[in-house]
Amino acid sequence: MIPKRLAVLGSTGSVGEQTLAVAAAHPDRYAVVALAAGRRVEKLAEQVRRFRPGLVSVADAEGAEALRGLLGPGLAPQIAVGSAGLEAVATADADLVVAALVGAVGLAPTLAAVRAGRDVALANKEVLVMAGALVRREVAAHGGALLPVDSEHSAIFQVLTGEDRDAIARLILTASGGPFRTWSAAQIARATVAEALRHPNWDMGPKITIDSASLMNKGLEVIEARWLFDVEPGQVDVVVHPQSIVHSLVEFRDTSVIAQLGLPDMRVPIAVALAHPDRLPLEVPRLDLTAVGRLDFETPDTKRFPCLSLAFEALRGSEAAPAVLNAANEVAVEAFLDGGLAFPAIAELNATVLEALAARDGSGALRDLKDVMEADTWARARAREVREVLAGERGSA
Ligand code: MG
Repeated sequence: MIPKRLAVLGSTGSVGEQTLAVAAAHPDRYAVVALAAGRRVEKLAEQVRRFRPGLVSVADAEGAEALRGLLGPGLAPQIAVGSAGLEAVATADADLVVAALVGAVGLAPTLAAVRAGRDVALANKEVLVMAGALVRREVAAHGGALLPVDSEHSAIFQVLTGEDRDAIARLILTASGGPFRTWSAAQIARATVAEALRHPNWDMGPKITIDSASLMNKGLEVIEARWLFDVEPGQVDVVVHPQSIVHSLVEFRDTSVIAQLGLPDMRVPIAVALAHPDRLPLEVPRLDLTAVGRLDFETPDTKRFPCLSLAFEALRGSEAAPAVLNAANEVAVEAFLDGGLAFPAIAELNATVLEALAARDGSGALRDLKDVMEADTWARARAREVREVLAGERGSA
């Protein structure tokens, strides 16, 4: 078997590490040819020793120097840095690029991979949130495949394989509801960072875990689904499902509903994306429905979790609105994690920046990467102003 050559953007993050774990379990099927990390140079050095990629990328020259020191003279991959480094890994001679960076930083390299005609396994949902229409156009123009890694989208992707897209009535994304699902608004207002980071079902990075607590993650996933599966915004629904066993569902026009189920384990959707259209044997715990016992479903409460409504609102707005919401949310989550904002201020900040966009002139169309980054930069500047106001209110409260 000729191994599939993998390039991994964000190899030291949660999805990156689990991708390498799946690849390591199947050394006959996968060869890791390029890895991009940020500042976790020691972890990257371990990965280089294990997988021997020819190309790696780190945040800056200082990191490159540290990596060279850690690897010693025996191992000498080409080391690139910064955004050029990310682009080099994204366009390396690979069969599949795993886009597992977090946030807006992943857009340019993912777009570079798409434009190089690579198949892309997309974990970095912000790419489609910021530039869904643009990315779809580029995928169509360059002929690569876009394979979802997000568990909900992987579920829908699996359900839709072999189905007629015109027969879709709606996509139903499940949401765990996060750690605050049963909390009152007053309790949520006092939530600490540690409490928000305590996700009941999924083991993920800090940004996405906070987004899960606010339901912004589900909102971003609604936008992601709209672009990934080319459906109308009105065809995407969300249902809270606290057990995280049903990963998402599709309702067809004959009213049949088909779901994908499994224990919450990111290695499964990663394996689906790595192996498609094949399926890998995986050594992970199996679903025992009698042990789970019951599956519950609830309507999401957008009063306590307004970020979900904001995402639907952004999807109905201009092309720039989702990009603006995403940028504002990155600023808000960072401020919450730093202790500078109360949890409900995340939604407040996001809403205020979206309102400011609506009041701004122009069509908000995103023709190219420059337009997207302009919307992103504008939103971040506005978000930092709003953050100062909200942090001041908190300080004086
Ligand atoms: Mg997800």
